Amino acid sequence: MIFTQHQQEIAEKIDYNVSKSNWKNWKWQVKHRIRSLDVLESLLGIKFSPDKRSQIEKTIKKFPMAITPYYLSLIDTNNMENDPIFRQSVPTIHELEYSQADMKDPLHEDKDSPVPGITHRYPDSVLFLVSNVCAMYCRHCTRKRRVGDIDNIPTKEEIKIGIDYIRNTPQVRDVLLSGGDPFLLSTDYLDWILTELRKIRHVEIIRIGTRTPVVLPYRITYRLVEMLKKHHPLWINTHFNHPREITASSKEALSKLADAGIPLGNQSVLLAGVNDCPIVMRSLVHKLVVNRVRPYYLYQCDLSEGLSHFRTPVGKGIEIIESLIGHTTGFCVPTYVIDAPGGGGKIPVMPNYLISWSTNKVILRNYEGVITTYKEPDSYEPTFCDRNCERCNLQLPLEDASEYRAVGIEKLLVDYDKTIALVPQKTERVERRSK
Ligand SMILES: *Cc1c(COP(=O)(O)O)cnc(C)c1O
Repeated sequence: MIFTQHQQEIAEKIDYNVSKSNWKNWKWQVKHRIRSLDVLESLLGIKFSPDKRSQIEKTIKKFPMAITPYYLSLIDTNNMENDPIFRQSVPTIHELEYSQADMKDPLHEDKDSPVPGITHRYPDSVLFLVSNVCAMYCRHCTRKRRVGDIDNIPTKEEIKIGIDYIRNTPQVRDVLLSGGDPFLLSTDYLDWILTELRKIRHVEIIRIGTRTPVVLPYRITYRLVEMLKKHHPLWINTHFNHPREITASSKEALSKLADAGIPLGNQSVLLAGVNDCPIVMRSLVHKLVVNRVRPYYLYQCDLSEGLSHFRTPVGKGIEIIESLIGHTTGFCVPTYVIDAPGGGGKIPVMPNYLISWSTNKVILRNYEGVITTYKEPDSYEPTFCDRNCERCNLQLPLEDASEYRAVGIEKLLVDYDKTIALVPQKTERVERRSK
């Protein structure tokens, strides 16, 4: 890991007797997070105008600030206002400009929560918030409603309630640990949580969502990685938004995780003024795969309060995906998703490649604009499916099939379900009918 002259200067302003090993100690970094405007100005060697100062102060009162010295050291002070690191970490008055569409909890994570800490939205996976501490408070946090709640680690008793729910819910095969940031827990505490989850037979995979490789790469210690390795199959998703976040230190963190056999994914958020550009995104995804990180999702910015200045039209995301598909390696392309307001989950959106369709032909276009036809088979004998797998000639392993039940749009496609339409409740038309 490098320790630049600039980092040395910042470190010395924080603590005159600092050593290189202090800087690389993640607990030192957390302890010295920048939380006040005065410290921010002094470490960056800048002075905001009195107006700007009072605006930032006002914003911090509602949505607190916390920046690790490491992440702060990446800010380019010569072009600060346009700097993607600055924009993701330093508060602006625009956070207090709510739009009409803003909501505290747009994804209804709290409503879809059967027990504290758990959001159960999809049939076979749960989101488990095991930490409400973050290394940095991202200005674009979707859980902004919670940022600034007193940093406290859920107790073992509280965690056990979530674990009991998972134990008693056999359809859960995928547990996604998030927060806050699970890597802000001590290694031993996280080890305990993972050990308890691994005792549950139906939990097949565990995932961890963490931004520490981006904002606190020193957290990825050999000791942490040795602990994680005991709990395979374990997947990690991180959160890089801009190519400038991929530094020597973050590369080292990523390679430790990858060397431990942990498949790495990345979830970016599309942010106005940060990464709403096909060239920036292409550079980001290329750098990610070089570091063995697979771009997983590109999120449309949520409707959480305080994010209106970060939102782009959906067309910007489609334009970015258009510029990637076909133009570069298939696994460089993330899935662009809108997390449905009201708790519908993530909905993928794409440019249209299917232009037209007849009974035996589809018309498609490729990334260059070539229009092509795909001839469908003249006859196709569909296999009738009544989910009675024992009688089926397709030889699906029975134990996987037995608990299976069609959900949502799938219901409309299967043969055995008589549902012909999924009708939203409480539309005016439906209400007229019930009269
Ligand atoms: C995103 C999310 C998941 C995981 O979704 P994947 O598409 O499987 O990555 C699970 N539960 C909740 C509540 C989520 O928001």
